[in-house]
Amino acid sequence: MDYLDANSISQKHIVKNKFFNSHVNDVNTELTTIKNSLAFNKYLSDDRYKELSTTLLLNTTKSLNKIMKLRYIDRRGREKISINRHSSTLKPYVTKINKLQNRRNSHYFKSTLNTPKDKTWSSALNSSKKQQKAEMDSIVYLGTPIFIKEKIVGVLIADISMKDLLHEFVKTPSNKVYLFDSNGNTLIDHQYNGFWSKYLQDATTIHDYFSKEAKDILTNNEYFGNNFYSNKIYLNDDDAIYMVIAENRFNLSDEITSNSTQLLFTILVLFILSIPLSYLFAQIPVRQKNQADKQKYDQDVLLSLFDLSDAVLFKWNNDKAWSVDSVSKSVQKLLAYTQNDFQSGSISYMECIHPDDLQEVLETHKHSIRNKAYFFEHKPYRLIRKDGDIKWILHSTIIVRGEYNKITSFLGYLTDITELKNKEIELKSISITDQLTKINNRMYTDSILKNQYNRFKRDGEICSIIIIDIDHFKSVNDNYGHLAGDNVLVEFAGVLKSFIRVGDELGRWGGEEFLIILPHTNLKQAMILAEKLKNAINVNEFPTPKHLTASFGVSTFKEDMSINTLMDIADKSLYESKRNGRNRVTAIQE
Ligand code: GH3
Ligand code: MG
Ligand code: MG
Repeated sequence: MDYLDANSISQKHIVKNKFFNSHVNDVNTELTTIKNSLAFNKYLSDDRYKELSTTLLLNTTKSLNKIMKLRYIDRRGREKISINRHSSTLKPYVTKINKLQNRRNSHYFKSTLNTPKDKTWSSALNSSKKQQKAEMDSIVYLGTPIFIKEKIVGVLIADISMKDLLHEFVKTPSNKVYLFDSNGNTLIDHQYNGFWSKYLQDATTIHDYFSKEAKDILTNNEYFGNNFYSNKIYLNDDDAIYMVIAENRFNLSDEITSNSTQLLFTILVLFILSIPLSYLFAQIPVRQKNQADKQKYDQDVLLSLFDLSDAVLFKWNNDKAWSVDSVSKSVQKLLAYTQNDFQSGSISYMECIHPDDLQEVLETHKHSIRNKAYFFEHKPYRLIRKDGDIKWILHSTIIVRGEYNKITSFLGYLTDITELKNKEIELKSISITDQLTKINNRMYTDSILKNQYNRFKRDGEICSIIIIDIDHFKSVNDNYGHLAGDNVLVEFAGVLKSFIRVGDELGRWGGEEFLIILPHTNLKQAMILAEKLKNAINVNEFPTPKHLTASFGVSTFKEDMSINTLMDIADKSLYESKRNGRNRVTAIQE
């Protein structure tokens, strides 16, 4: 049996978590809510609260359609409150007292009774055998024990319908998907046929669909058939279902070698399909037959289809250096190297990857292979052209596997997204830059300050700030005009910028106010820098007027200080500098 908070990294649990837990987790949350509710806790010791608790269970059932039944059963197995659903209308109702039963011998009662406090127990996938009519449902029981102090007094049990989940499993537009139970009974197929058909008269089994390979499917965790792929999906530790995905329109293995136009079509279709269905497709193999010559011919035809396109198709061998087996002519447009440069090995693909991006590209590649992906996409990265220009590309890869599922090569599909990426970079830069002085704007400076504050809180990383205000700036505007004022602001920012270190952040905080954030800097060091800046302003020759001064306020992060307090102290310090005659540095102590 299985507890839902089991924490495992194995594939089995990843699948389980993904499909199974996601389906039952909200019910689990509801059970906890009931368990912690005042009404229910009162009811456990005082029967007058029964009606209120009943309403709570009824409303919970109403709120989640997949709850088919919700019951509180006491420690001796007697149903005390039971919410059921009408068999035809599916409307929830409260079960009459004379219909309540004793569940002492049921497996869900016994198992939940033995479940630790604060844990949830879940059953295997069961059919609800009573509904012998129309479509069967499949049920998972979820149970949690109820304690008063350290004593168990009963259990809460929810019957969860798994029908929607199973429907979701088989819902793919272009493949045939079948689900079988461990004995090979059909749970459902892609046409929603045979739901739990072992309980129906026209029962179908795995043998009706896969007569030859039935045994292989049911005895392997994963099996690659001629034109299908099967995978064992663990619902919990003692229950599993087998999912088989079969090709619908074409047989991949044959198409790869027989017709290159269709191969192109196959690739395009897969590109489109693989994105939403990447999980289901994650492990379908592409098999290649060893007819080298014919394949070479097909490949050439395929590559030639890309000649006129802007997209580039690469085929890399499965070796450390990604040696290029072949590449479409269109590579010349993208990288200025010729098809032959790559195919002869005089230039390697990896050499073209921007050194700052290489590591991540290799990581993504390795990671996808490790996860047995069939198709994956890189984050946009940069390639360096023969002429040194940089291209941003979007790169998707199909992993090609051969005999024994061994990777033989990689097919890469590259598109140039430089223009788009540059626009994005430009937009981002505009959003964080002050348009007059070209230093960081207030919003961005504020976010840097917040990050720095969080680091101080988390790691105790010290940080100081300097706020700077130009003295008598209004008179610059008044005497020389607004434009002259603007020029002074640009020059002023330039002087500050030339004096701060890498890692320090300068931003325009207001009209003629600037803020410098100094990570790893204590108050004393910040004061020294502020003095330096003050002197630099004093000696700098501005356009008009030639000479200017500025006032400085300094403060540093201290224990239990908020960002507001920090800014407040800096402001007050600046005010003190102004009050004491301007052109000075102050750090008041709070
Ligand atoms: P103090 O020494 O007390 O700081 O005097 P001040 O004149 O510098 O102070 P005040 O805050 O009164 O004046 C700031 C002026 O800065 C007012 C405003 O018109 C001007 N200003 C704000 N933003 C800009 C800008 O982008 N360009 C120009 N040219 N002037 C600006
Ligand atoms: Mg001011
Ligand atoms: Mg001023």
